[in-house]
Amino acid sequence: MEVQYNSRCIMEVIMLLESYQLEIFNNECMPGAMSVQCFAHLNQDVSEVLPFLNTELGGFTYIKDPPSVTFRLHGKLLTVHGKKIAVNALKDEAEARKIVEWMKQEINNAWEKRDKIIPRYVGMPQPQMIQILKCLPKTNCRECGEPTCMVFATRVAEGVKDSDDCPALTPTDRATLDAYMKPYATDEDGILW
Ligand code: SF4
Repeated sequence: MEVQYNSRCIMEVIMLLESYQLEIFNNECMPGAMSVQCFAHLNQDVSEVLPFLNTELGGFTYIKDPPSVTFRLHGKLLTVHGKKIAVNALKDEAEARKIVEWMKQEINNAWEKRDKIIPRYVGMPQPQMIQILKCLPKTNCRECGEPTCMVFATRVAEGVKDSDDCPALTPTDRATLDAYMKPYATDEDGILW
């Protein structure tokens, strides 16, 4: 019994984030949008874990004051602030719950392992929109669903679109674009929600 009590105490000490309240809402700028966004209002302040989380998950933007880190995963933007997690481009509330619960676990894992992680206070290097644009046909044909090739290039730089989304690309330009983007690809294989 004594051993069980001790291990329970250890778990309580290392768990940084214990609970939150979820807020789901539609994008006010795009009332007809099919996706929703969410805020998870955190009951504990996770500011201290953010540089460790940044190292573990490869944030593309890190802001020091007030601290926040933004990740681009599976076409979504996840921003973790000290007392809030924001996620966009969600299908529904069920997906929001799954992703926030996954992030809660990642926060607590990074906190638990923080002695073994080198904290990172900057974002990862980012692809340049202009370099992506050079690979595109620049006809603004809109077949990708974006109004111009420049907007599409921005979406590729953000990780939301890729070469498969531009049907007008030649095989050569597709290969060039894929080669340019390869070093910036996030390893999402282990990220399941
Ligand atoms: S489909 Fe390709 S060429 Fe057409 S607008 Fe989109 S990025 Fe430009």
